[in-house]
Amino acid sequence: MKPFEYIACSTLDRALEALNAPGGGRILAGGTDLVIEMRRPGRRPPRRIVDIGRVEGLRGVTVAGGLVHIGPLTTHADLARSGLLSTPARLLCAAAAAVGSPQIRNRGTIGGNIMNAAACADTVPPLCALNARLTLKSGTGARELPITEFFTEPYKTVARPDEVLTRISFPLPPPGSTGAFIKLGRRNAVSISRLSVAVLVSLDAEGIIAEASIVPGAALPVWQRIAEAEALLRGRKPDADLFAAAGRGVAAVMIRQTGRRWSTEYKEPVLAVLVRRALEACCGLTRTEGRR
Ligand SMILES: Cc1cc2nc3c(=O)[nH]c(=O)nc-3n(C[C@H](O)[C@H](O)[C@H](O)COP(=O)(O)OP(=O)(O)OC[C@H]3O[C@@H](n4cnc5c(N)ncnc54)[C@H](O)[C@@H]3O)c2cc1C
Repeated sequence: MKPFEYIACSTLDRALEALNAPGGGRILAGGTDLVIEMRRPGRRPPRRIVDIGRVEGLRGVTVAGGLVHIGPLTTHADLARSGLLSTPARLLCAAAAAVGSPQIRNRGTIGGNIMNAAACADTVPPLCALNARLTLKSGTGARELPITEFFTEPYKTVARPDEVLTRISFPLPPPGSTGAFIKLGRRNAVSISRLSVAVLVSLDAEGIIAEASIVPGAALPVWQRIAEAEALLRGRKPDADLFAAAGRGVAAVMIRQTGRRWSTEYKEPVLAVLVRRALEACCGLTRTEGRR
């Protein structure tokens, strides 16, 4: 690997200054994506690596004023066992628990997962389902935007090279909400998602579906809530046939957006089943939950 400048920062201001210096730089958080990218044959390493791993105030989960705030340096291991998230955002805990292996979960961060923008990033579908917003800071100010407006295509976002992701926030789901995340990989561990789905369902006092969010992962060019399948559920009682129809609706949207490919024969029925199972898990119709 060619030599590069390495700057370990203990404050955000120092990191922003290093990113703004001539030649710019790449942020290093846990390094589980960046270091692999740098080691790829033929890749030129960035001229400057800006290590934010020790920057204060960018780690941890807080709840205030009806909002959940997550620091970008929070590791997947910390998310998976967060007591603050386990009830209101268990779909996010489940996604974090499904990332890689214990070593990757102890090192990899939610901020790196978002900023890397791989189609298989496991924490992104739950964050989209939870209507998360991202705060980005640069030397000239800060901006906040919905996560669904952040990605433009796989591995591409609207972030500028001088911006640091400093916060991920989402509203606490209303009482009566439950979520589920299901991941399908080639094996049970250290496996990237071939398909995944994150679902959040809110039931009213009569057990009727008041609101639903459905976000497939590794299925579409960019992550999005599937409005037409969500609309099918609103105002209805949880029911296996209804959930199967919603699953077929999500698969139909995938095909409409990506066209029919060699993998469609497999992905179409499998995505429909994942959606149905996730909805059933939310509404207690089955015990299916977790990664399969
Ligand atoms: C063996 C293995 C298995 C894996 N399995 C999975 C898996 O199952 N699911 C999954 O989703 N991912 C998986 N990954 C990918 C990876 O672990 C995650 O994407 C992880 O969350 C990346 O976080 P990081 O802190 O290591 O990011 P880094 O590698 O440090 O950074 C990744 C990118 O984000 C940028 N960045 C990081 N933080 C910020 C910030 N705060 N502001 C601006 N830019 C930032 C970096 O510049 C870089 O471009 C796996 C990786 C490995 C090596």
